[in-house]
Amino acid sequence: MLADLHSHTWLSDGSLAPQALIQRALDNQVTHLAITDHDCVDAFDQIEERPNPDALTLITGVEISCLWDQREIHVVGLGFDRHDAALQALLQRQQQLRWQRAQDMDIKLQKAGITGLTRYLETLPCRAISRNHVADFLIERGVARSKSHAFKNHLGDRGRFRVSAQWCAIAEAVEVIQGAGGLAVLAHPNRYSISNPKLRRLIQEFAADQGQGMEVSYSNIDPHVMGYMATLCMDNGLWASTGSDFHTPTQQWMDIGKFRRLPAQCADRAIWMHPGWPKCIAAA
Ligand code: AMP
Ligand code: MN
Ligand code: MN
Ligand code: MN
Repeated sequence: MLADLHSHTWLSDGSLAPQALIQRALDNQVTHLAITDHDCVDAFDQIEERPNPDALTLITGVEISCLWDQREIHVVGLGFDRHDAALQALLQRQQQLRWQRAQDMDIKLQKAGITGLTRYLETLPCRAISRNHVADFLIERGVARSKSHAFKNHLGDRGRFRVSAQWCAIAEAVEVIQGAGGLAVLAHPNRYSISNPKLRRLIQEFAADQGQGMEVSYSNIDPHVMGYMATLCMDNGLWASTGSDFHTPTQQWMDIGKFRRLPAQCADRAIWMHPGWPKCIAAA
């Protein structure tokens, strides 16, 4: 079993169509794939040919942007009913916030003499506009020389075109995911640039909010960091998840299905051993 439970298509800020993502997962021997676009589940409507379940089990997913302690924290939902009304309403609201944020960035860019962001975004296949798209636009216009440069100088916390958004709270994301029959997983916990005490508090509060799992293994993770994530996961009574956070084949360090196996201390607590997991598979 190789479960990649975190991946993106071009419905958010990935570069592949859903069908191409599925093919890449098959090529990389993934047996369980969750497509988890940012605040969007529309990829599941664009799958032309479902994979043979003997080769690949598809799982519904989403990655919801939340505000916690004035920061953006990502909660992955797995295996829910994607037609659930409360889920659809939340994702609509989040997508609207994403559009509004892009419009506000466009105004800031125009003031700096950089025009055309909205027109550029309208040409894309995505439904959930991300700063990743704005970064591409800045690179195309020669304003930024790379993604990391675009985030550091223009779009990140101290960037000059930064715009904040009122994402939902973690508790709301968890409640909506579970209300739709899914499992809620804290995404890539060591990627939030927060101190260790704050990270511990985040995980404790996520567990107190009834979150069920956290990602323990993901692309490029240092083995020592993974061991520490495993400890935090077990200490907080959470289930351990794995996923690449794949966006595009050009980022070779984040390829679909390419991450370390869970450490031994999580052997009995993998998210696919959770009592709610069979229902997750059925929901896809
Ligand atoms: P958003 O969800 O619109 O806030 O955009 C965040 C997305 O941008 C993340 O999901 C990543 O895909 C991407 N991203 C964030 N920070 C960086 C970075 N420093 N370098 C490259 N991509 C980044
Ligand atoms: Mn992304
Ligand atoms: Mn994320
Ligand atoms: Mn992601």
